[in-house]
Amino acid sequence: MKRKVAQALKTRKVLLSDGAWGTALQAHGLKGGQCGEMWCMIRRHEILAIARSYIDAGSDIILTNSFGANSIKLAHYDLADRAEKINRAAAEISREAAGDDHIVLGSVGPTGKIILMGDVTADDLYEAFAEQVTGLEKGGADGILIETMSAIDEATIAVRAAKENTVLEVACTFTFERAGYGGFHSIMGHTIADYVDAMRDVSCDIIGTNCGNGIDEMTEIVREMRAIEPDLPIIAQPNAGKPEIVGGEVVYKETPEIMAAKTPELIEAGANIIGGCCGTTPEHIRAMSGVILTI
Ligand SMILES: [Zn+2]
Repeated sequence: MKRKVAQALKTRKVLLSDGAWGTALQAHGLKGGQCGEMWCMIRRHEILAIARSYIDAGSDIILTNSFGANSIKLAHYDLADRAEKINRAAAEISREAAGDDHIVLGSVGPTGKIILMGDVTADDLYEAFAEQVTGLEKGGADGILIETMSAIDEATIAVRAAKENTVLEVACTFTFERAGYGGFHSIMGHTIADYVDAMRDVSCDIIGTNCGNGIDEMTEIVREMRAIEPDLPIIAQPNAGKPEIVGGEVVYKETPEIMAAKTPELIEAGANIIGGCCGTTPEHIRAMSGVILTI
């Protein structure tokens, strides 16, 4: 099994991941209703430029432009039969930007279908994830990052599909929100403890959380996760604050300076890998990089 992240964490206290891809694609002109993952095939240079922007900003780890590139989501665009090729291209592009001395994690997002609702079967999900991770491995990814998950059944199927169909290191992160009682749960109602138990059951290599929250809430979530799980690496990718609607547009207001100032607390809470999700840019990552270098 490849263990590039675990190896790197033997000599480094903290690794820096990348920032948002969706936000960068929108800055390049991606409109709602368009398939951003297809740009790996038709606008390769722009995807390569986004990947390079994060390497230049100081990321040790970059992801791939494959978040929604499972056949179930691609079917909305009549692209289901292109899934393996798109994932392979996504990994090849990030590999080209990363070279051999940086780590590429293949991004795998949720399918948008819910087993409990009868939308899809467990076998359908397994097949779609297996195809996706196989494409990412062929394209040169070092590991798989299953991210923005909220349902334990879907997340554990994705982890199993990655473990059983590749030799790659596997991370899986959940998105949590604050519940009425003050703690955190996913929109499917799973607590942080439920999630950690499920990840241990499927031998996930790296756990963590992304999206949904700014760095303050992320720090609380990581602290709770670390108290439950003392050993596994934890990755945290906060948004640039909570989304706000200004003039009909979604904006994220936490600046690179704000996120950098709060980075030591996130690390102290127990995060080993930090980066950004929605609204973060290469400037946020560059600012966080400056902080890590002083730790
Ligand atoms: Zn996000």
